[in-house]
Amino acid sequence: MSTFLGMPGPPHASELGTLRGQQPFPVAAGKALADTQLRRNLRHATSTIRAKRAAVVGELPDWEALRSAGAAIKAATMARLPELLEQLEREVTARGGVVHWARNAVEANRIVCDIVQRTGADQVVKVKSMATQEIGLNEALAASGVEAVETDLAELIVQLGGDRPSHILVPAIHRNRAEIRDIFVRGMPGVGPELGDDPQELAMTARAHLRRTFLSARVAVSGANFAVAETGTLAVVESEGNGRMCLTLPETLITVMGIEKVLPTWRDLEVFLQLLPRSSTGERMNPYTSLWTGVTPGDGPQEVHLVLLDNGRTAVLADETGRQALHCIRCSACLNVCPVYERAGGHAYGSVYPGPIGAVLTPQLAGMRGHLPGGRVDPVDTLPYASSLCGACYDACPVKIEIPDLLVHLRTRHVDGLRRGRVPTPERATMAAASWVMSSPSRFAAAERTSRLGRVIARGGRIRTLPPPMSGWTATRDAPAPPEETFRQWWARTRGQDLP
Ligand code: SF4
Repeated sequence: MSTFLGMPGPPHASELGTLRGQQPFPVAAGKALADTQLRRNLRHATSTIRAKRAAVVGELPDWEALRSAGAAIKAATMARLPELLEQLEREVTARGGVVHWARNAVEANRIVCDIVQRTGADQVVKVKSMATQEIGLNEALAASGVEAVETDLAELIVQLGGDRPSHILVPAIHRNRAEIRDIFVRGMPGVGPELGDDPQELAMTARAHLRRTFLSARVAVSGANFAVAETGTLAVVESEGNGRMCLTLPETLITVMGIEKVLPTWRDLEVFLQLLPRSSTGERMNPYTSLWTGVTPGDGPQEVHLVLLDNGRTAVLADETGRQALHCIRCSACLNVCPVYERAGGHAYGSVYPGPIGAVLTPQLAGMRGHLPGGRVDPVDTLPYASSLCGACYDACPVKIEIPDLLVHLRTRHVDGLRRGRVPTPERATMAAASWVMSSPSRFAAAERTSRLGRVIARGGRIRTLPPPMSGWTATRDAPAPPEETFRQWWARTRGQDLP
């Protein structure tokens, strides 16, 4: 094992870093909010999934105990992650699989591209995998002359539309059926303008297209929902059966898995196979649960690879508070209950991981930078602020990740980082000035008197536009006009004496 655990996180070339070329969350969210069709689609989809989840969760009298068990298993797993990963490697290898260790996106992509090239294939089929999206594998494969075909229906819609996923579980949540029909007509070979937008017709069209691809595929790339260390077994859960095709038909199977997905035993897997489907799709169990252990001669892929991906995870593990984010089982329940996600959608987060979990995972995987030259804002640094801290995400999370606490923790790290900068930010300068004014009664009284000048520009008791640097406040809301009489004046008038 070329261990990278127990060492400080290596400099990682995470593809998550590409979001640095994107816009800060408030800017991107502002644009998304102006798209009424997007908001309608999101509201409909998230409320439907919420209702389904609530119904199936309500059936289990021991749901809270299951959540606690899930949280405890994850915490215990993280406490001995190196040992479990080594055990997983031994078991996979003993059963004919090959384990690769990738410190970052560049290494993981190189490993996968090399394997595919050795097979001579120019196309791979993929079952939905967030880890491969995280590292930009499709782009890396394309650069080496290999076409990656997404086989999850929603992923296929995203891929054909030249789009980006906007939800962990339902990547095309922002698309309605009319938009999907147009995408198929434009991008799916052999599909003409006569295609309607009936959901069944759309599904059957995609099915026919994918079936041809599955039957000719020689290499598949998958993610993994879980890996059981005691036997070296990998697990993928899904709803459409495309995963089952990918995992059984090709000769070569390459699985890219974040190192946090390992579980110690099958008993532990049992807990998560109850928690995950209820929290994600609102089902009692996943329609397809595929499990495979190494190579079985004459049955399924005869060449099986497992790429264990760090890409910043060991750095997250080193943070005692932040490491909770690694407990995530990507169910997306926190997205579906988040008022910010429901209005802004996933693209505003600029990362493969949107919503509340993205707001705590992305900054930790990609790293927060605080100061940028020229006073620019790092989009990653804005993500921990993409929350009202209402706590709905914690209530919904099947493994009890305290997302609000993590958000505050990351905000603290961000502010501490800014404090260390030599050039004060406008916020820091404003807070220092406020502190200076408020620490002296006479200065505070003078400031109160000065603030009353605001009455000159007030209309109907509200100030609609303030000059810089306060203009940011009135850009999105009015400021109340100062009262006619200050508190000190009121005190002196009613008590007959000045405040000390
Ligand atoms: S943080 Fe919790 S609720 Fe959100 S996706 Fe992860 S496991 Fe699900």
